[in-house]
Amino acid sequence: MTAIRNRNRLHPLASAPTGFKFDSPILVVEDQKSTAEYTVALMKDRWGCEVLVADSLKAAKAALDSTLPAIKVAICDLNLPDAPYGEVIDLMNQYGVAAIALTGAYGEELRTSLNKKGVVDFIPKGSVNAYEYTVGLAGRVQKNFHTSILVVDDSLSARALYKHMCELLRCKVFTASNGYQALELLSQHPEISMMLTDYSMSGMDGYELTANTRAKYSKDKLAIIGISAGADEEISSNFLKCGANDFLAKPFSYQEFLCRIHQNLDMLDLIQANRDAAQRDYMTGLYNRRFFFEAGTTLYDQAKLNRSGIVAAMIDLDFFKKINDQYGHDCGDLVIKHFAALLNSHFKEMLVARIGGEEFAVLLDVPYSEEVYAQFEALRTAVYSSSIDFAGEKISYTISVGLSCQLGETIDDLIKGADIALYQSKKGQRNQVVAPIGSF
Ligand code: GH3
Ligand code: MG
Ligand code: MG
Repeated sequence: MTAIRNRNRLHPLASAPTGFKFDSPILVVEDQKSTAEYTVALMKDRWGCEVLVADSLKAAKAALDSTLPAIKVAICDLNLPDAPYGEVIDLMNQYGVAAIALTGAYGEELRTSLNKKGVVDFIPKGSVNAYEYTVGLAGRVQKNFHTSILVVDDSLSARALYKHMCELLRCKVFTASNGYQALELLSQHPEISMMLTDYSMSGMDGYELTANTRAKYSKDKLAIIGISAGADEEISSNFLKCGANDFLAKPFSYQEFLCRIHQNLDMLDLIQANRDAAQRDYMTGLYNRRFFFEAGTTLYDQAKLNRSGIVAAMIDLDFFKKINDQYGHDCGDLVIKHFAALLNSHFKEMLVARIGGEEFAVLLDVPYSEEVYAQFEALRTAVYSSSIDFAGEKISYTISVGLSCQLGETIDDLIKGADIALYQSKKGQRNQVVAPIGSF
């Protein structure tokens, strides 16, 4: 299956995992029971994540020692019975945990000392919206561990400062000292979701870099924040006109930096969530029927134009009704999710969709070959030899696959061909892959 396996570029239609799942629990260190309960309730409501509570420094250390996967983010009360002076922050630093400090006390001196210790943020408990903000921030920081930012500035000290601030937020940081290097890094690292750029740079200035970047990366995929130097008000508006999402006017505080970075990252997430809601099936995270036909038509038209070949596969779970009847609907749902994950992992770079209840489709923009057949045969075998644990029972199931590579007049003809092949399997013993008619 060289035609498929050797393609290391990610297909633009590939079914990337959708949504963000917390990969470790959030720790709340708080000795006041009601406050802890309130924070946990807000955290679960907002993010649906696992939350652990520790009511002392000792309990916090025990939680850090015993929790796997390791805790990454903690909301910390600074005044604990066994640690009244914010010692909890030192503990979090020892464990490399991002700490968000909540405290009843407030003062510039405290803020300065906490900033030096590297807390992500410091929130006075009495402030308006304190808990809602804290909970939003905790989730954001948890996501930041998977967020990459590119910092572009020709000044070494400015680069170091912005990098340091991004790292306090727990983002992964790339740096570039000029626009050319920045464009190179963006093409090498598609995971970068934000670029911070200075205006005044030799060779390519910040405007040019922003415009050149925008020509390739849209505003809803890559956020650009221009950094304008001081007095000149035009710089910020020019940045926006060149396609920047936002700007920061120097000098700015760490607090303003944090708010702007997070606001823009949140906006990207919101757009992605909306896109997913429209294009994806809620239960499996795969693309839905509508998107399959929309994106599939583009692939189909290209294949027709370039005479480059295309293969459609229709896949249906065998005797699925029996699973529902015998074990219940929840078990049926579990089987659908199990199969969706297997299908996605076998055809990562292809257009994969759930197009009906227990019906799935794949479109491969390659010519049909025995290797394509082998790829589906491998999927069928993987399903056949796997089982799912449900209420103490081992559930097994099989699939039928119909393939087609006859273009016809429209994509519907291609899909119909795959449907006819699928029907052959259903008429027979099921649990088989039926090759395109006339292919062997
Ligand atoms: P065949 O081998 O001929 O495909 O038989 P089958 O039982 O798999 O096919 P049939 O079309 O008769 O039944 C499909 C069932 O799938 C009927 C429907 O209630 C069930 N179903 C559809 N969507 C879902 C879902 O999201 N969850 C669950 N649990 N069941 C679903
Ligand atoms: Mg079925
Ligand atoms: Mg069916």
